[in-house]
Amino acid sequence: MKSKVYAILLAGGSGTRMNAPVNKILLPVRGIPCIARSAAALAPFVSEIVLVGRPNEKEALMNAFNLVRVTCPIVFVCGGSTRQASVFNGLQSITDIDESAAVLIHDGARCLVSAETISAVLSAVLEKGSGVASVPVTDTLRSSGTDDLMAGSTLPRDNLFAMQTPQGFRLGELRKAFSVADQDGFIGTDDAAVMAHAGFPVYLTPGSRYNIKLTTWEDYQMAEALVSFSSLSPIRVGFGYDVHQLTENRRLILCGVDIPYEKGLLGHSDADVALHALMDALLGAAGLGDIGKHFPDSDNTYLNIDSMKLLDHVMNKLAEVGYVPSNVDITIVAQKPKLAPYIRQMTENLASAMHLPLFRINVKATTTEHLGFEGRMEGISAYAVCLIQSAGSCSVNSSF
Ligand code: MG
Repeated sequence: MKSKVYAILLAGGSGTRMNAPVNKILLPVRGIPCIARSAAALAPFVSEIVLVGRPNEKEALMNAFNLVRVTCPIVFVCGGSTRQASVFNGLQSITDIDESAAVLIHDGARCLVSAETISAVLSAVLEKGSGVASVPVTDTLRSSGTDDLMAGSTLPRDNLFAMQTPQGFRLGELRKAFSVADQDGFIGTDDAAVMAHAGFPVYLTPGSRYNIKLTTWEDYQMAEALVSFSSLSPIRVGFGYDVHQLTENRRLILCGVDIPYEKGLLGHSDADVALHALMDALLGAAGLGDIGKHFPDSDNTYLNIDSMKLLDHVMNKLAEVGYVPSNVDITIVAQKPKLAPYIRQMTENLASAMHLPLFRINVKATTTEHLGFEGRMEGISAYAVCLIQSAGSCSVNSSF
């Protein structure tokens, strides 16, 4: 059986060095809380995230995930008084008896970690037993003495690396290393130090200079700028179009609202033409094909299915590739019935299904002045456009 991969996500930071009123990892980075970006980046690689934080922040932390859809379970664990104690608590909550399971430990404040960085760490753990994201030091390093006077000689930097996270290890070795540190009273500044203290080899893997840790206000501003930089965090646009025929003895369902009318739309599913256009727009934006590919009408699983359920699947598919919708705009083209009374309910349905505030969703209806098939009331069509944005990873080389 394939070993599992766990993430221990450290969320016990503070806002002190940033003069922020809240824990810095709750601060939104371009609209998405820092901790939610970190979790969304890790989720595609792991089967469970152990979120280690302060008990009084549990609710705020869990609420931070409302805007993104994290595709694996998140288990909350109370942190300790130091980073090492927090990792230890997280480790204790993993009860897996498979000692070769991989554990990726990540600072919640490194919300711009890329899929490439995580993947390199995980591959090294699977192949060699450990992997620590790191970057070569490029600045000259010196010590300072009293009165800002430079002291000592320049440190050679040829083999110096700055440690980042994730830091990944095998579960069994990690447990041993933490127990050795506990016996010896050893406190390391990171997990690599704890492993090295116990005599385990630690392999370095390529990190990224974009993988900054939000510590100061400057870091926060840099993170916001990096996320805005489109080639690092692509915003993608999608378009969808669909038509269904109006017929008797069928219900008319648009954006999940059952609308009283003498006719309904014909289709394999519930024929919610507006949701079909929307799903095609979302899948199109993510480069994932269309709904015909994911929910073929030759499959009886989807016979008369509620399209809101299909939308839920599409949201999961988007989350799997690290994207969340930013806004959507739908136009329903129908001569009859009058749709204005139902627009609010449609918008609310979409907001709830897509975890978006109401103002990010627009549904409108128009007639064609009796022209065309919609005007002759033979069918209803719908157009949808959407923008999606990267939820977690800040990837230079997108894999799709
Ligand atoms: Mg359709």
